Amino acid sequence: EDGVRLQKVLAQAGVASRRAAEQLIDEGRVEVDGRIVTEQGVRVDPEVAVVRVDGTRVVIKADLVHIALNKPRGWQSTMSDDLGRPCIGDIVSERVQAGQRLFHVGRLDADTEGLILLTNDGDLAHRLMHPSFEVSKTYLATVQGVLDRDAGKKLRSGVELDDGPARVDSYAVLDVNEGKTLVKVVLHEGRKHIVRRLFDSVGFPVKRLVRTDIGAVALGDQRPGTLRVLGRGEVGSLY
Ligand code: URA
Repeated sequence: EDGVRLQKVLAQAGVASRRAAEQLIDEGRVEVDGRIVTEQGVRVDPEVAVVRVDGTRVVIKADLVHIALNKPRGWQSTMSDDLGRPCIGDIVSERVQAGQRLFHVGRLDADTEGLILLTNDGDLAHRLMHPSFEVSKTYLATVQGVLDRDAGKKLRSGVELDDGPARVDSYAVLDVNEGKTLVKVVLHEGRKHIVRRLFDSVGFPVKRLVRTDIGAVALGDQRPGTLRVLGRGEVGSLY
């Protein structure tokens, strides 16, 4: 059958859960193309239907996909690579339907591992990448040397980089081993090589870098080279 059930459309648009959406329909509060719909199970074309709840237009986002991908070290964070190097597009193409246009939200250096978000919601991808969008990102950095308080304080209070000032929101030393320090850092911005440049500026070059969190989305124990579809709560946290 053509179309998507109205309660599903309402749920996907974030108006209400499916059950609550059915109730809205029952109560005569939902309008499709200018007519109140009280019958359950009506199908609409999400591309063209004008849906209103209590007279307010519902922004329909059909078939939205949100994916968390764990980029392995050495892979390009692009959907394709002209030089044939391994890229995240290779991981995605095995799992995601052809024709679904996915955007990756920002990039990680080839040498950096960890969480990259992918979505077919271009507006969301754009918003998440914009510097004014204050989503926090957490990284685990293994740096050469034993990071001292002084360096940590500088990172927090701010350092001057080639392209302007930069700082971390917080840092925590998790481990010191064989002359290297494992540091967790949280920051809000996404300038190129920002974490590596921050640590370089205080004299502690980064040997390994993993992004573990973007906002409320965490990598957890997801293995490198795999992807997972985000849960409802995680998706909601991005909007
Ligand atoms: N900071 C870096 O230096 N590299 C990344 O890939 C991400 C943040």
